[in-house]
Amino acid sequence: MPAPHRHGALRWTNYHGTESADLADLVELTNSTAESGRDALREVARDVLALLQQARAAGIHVRPLGSGWSPSPICIVDGGWLVETRRINRCFRLDSDDVASGVDASRLMLVQAGATVDEVNDSAEEMGLSLVTGGASNGQTLAGAAATGTHGSVLSAGGIQDHIRALQVVTPSGIFWVEPQQPLMTPGFVAHAGSTILRDDDVFAACLVAVGAMGFVTAMVIACEPIYMVRNIQKRARLTREHVTRLADGDFRVFSRELGLDEDPYFAQVILNPFDPFDKDALLRLLYRRAYDPAIPPPPRPLAGAGYDALTLIGKAMAGFDLFRADVLQLAMRAGYAVQRDVDDPEAVATWGNTTEPHNPIANLFNGSVTMARADLERAFDPLIEAFLSGGGGTVVTLRFMKRAAGLLAPARFDDNVVIDFDGPRSDVSHRSYRAVVARLDALGIRFTRHWGKTNDLDAARVAHDYGVDYHRFRAAQRRMMPDPGDLAVFGSDCLTHLGLI
Ligand SMILES: Cc1cc2nc3c(=O)[nH]c(=O)nc-3n(C[C@H](O)[C@H](O)[C@H](O)COP(=O)(O)OP(=O)(O)OC[C@H]3O[C@@H](n4cnc5c(N)ncnc54)[C@H](O)[C@@H]3O)c2cc1C
Repeated sequence: MPAPHRHGALRWTNYHGTESADLADLVELTNSTAESGRDALREVARDVLALLQQARAAGIHVRPLGSGWSPSPICIVDGGWLVETRRINRCFRLDSDDVASGVDASRLMLVQAGATVDEVNDSAEEMGLSLVTGGASNGQTLAGAAATGTHGSVLSAGGIQDHIRALQVVTPSGIFWVEPQQPLMTPGFVAHAGSTILRDDDVFAACLVAVGAMGFVTAMVIACEPIYMVRNIQKRARLTREHVTRLADGDFRVFSRELGLDEDPYFAQVILNPFDPFDKDALLRLLYRRAYDPAIPPPPRPLAGAGYDALTLIGKAMAGFDLFRADVLQLAMRAGYAVQRDVDDPEAVATWGNTTEPHNPIANLFNGSVTMARADLERAFDPLIEAFLSGGGGTVVTLRFMKRAAGLLAPARFDDNVVIDFDGPRSDVSHRSYRAVVARLDALGIRFTRHWGKTNDLDAARVAHDYGVDYHRFRAAQRRMMPDPGDLAVFGSDCLTHLGLI
């Protein structure tokens, strides 16, 4: 296996062009070509272990890097080593000899940390499986997406990290196989993968959404569902206040009957024009589960197109305008959903993997979101929109819905959650608007959390406040994972110190 490729000192900028760092080294991990997953895991983990030990001895900070999609500075390590994982991207089947007795291997996949969501979707389909949920786009790595609690709007699911059943995690002191107390893999598998077993419910829960503060994840075992398809309704529609009430109440069936199909939706997302939410069209996306039908060909393009790119570009153009913003945005929203798929379009059926979209980098985007109990949506709705506009607004406001997600630091920590995204051009206006939203929620006494990967204005005191006892459990689990403070220090960065995570 070739040694990791070292690019040397350089200035690195993240995907959205929002953060950059002067690195002492950009290290690109190379992959093993070993046929067996256990061998591949062992070889890659040994490379990572050697890097971490070298860094520790030299007093260098190391930051694992996924796709670098997070607009927040969580991937930044000034003067340190950024270690790219994108080439460690293989997925493997598991069989009954690999798993503990009573575990069904047929729904499990062994995934290397740098596999993108798109690559995982493809491999899952080849194995007759589907992910249960995921974000809107598919270029994040699975480890990076889990590290921030990436989510979509599947009504019955949590975040992408909810798929994870076990992780291979490397620290300067060793290669660990982290599982909950209930065993998943056999001791033989774990040893062959070069790892030492660490069974601890809280360490496992801390590793699920770790923001890169629990060690270097090299692989995961994930649980999927038998392959399924979804029917896609994607349309413009006029919302009423009653619709907002239905969403806050979780009355998705009635919402769907009025605006989509008369059945329970699997996924429901609403994109609003904040300048005039009830007198301008909203963009709806409703997905309904369908049995897998191999006779249905993959669509020529993914059945997505939330039109974020178009909306964001228009947002940039709008940034200097004060007049007609509701109308300009409405035009952009129409362009974003140029192809409508309404209730009379039965063709729009695809596998789950074909509903997420690839993405091209757009420099200088602003993304910020808040997650709160879904029941608070009704009383928060008007004040939030008003606060957002008081700062000048951005582009659209998106509502997504999900269950409580796994992980001590999962932002979706309420039984039923609404996530409200505030997107826009990267400007003072967007940021000011987001700050106004956060301040208004505090003034209303509504509990909420923020996305680790997006602009969030968090600091250590606020993180401790938002996550309460789970924050302290996270820090205790971190000490069990890395009892030697010198190991934890290797993963240090200004950002993680600021967040109180290291
Ligand atoms: C176009 C676009 C669309 C998006 N859509 C959504 C969405 O629909 N829903 C949503 O919730 N979010 C969304 N996001 C946010 C995005 O999902 C998160 O920022 C995600 O964490 C990015 O994954 P990544 O692989 O790029 O991770 P990175 O940004 O590279 O890393 C994120 C964190 O994970 C750590 N990390 C990465 N790999 C490892 C590893 N192997 N071991 C340990 N730590 C690691 C990093 O150090 C860092 O702290 C979107 C972002 C973009 C740019």
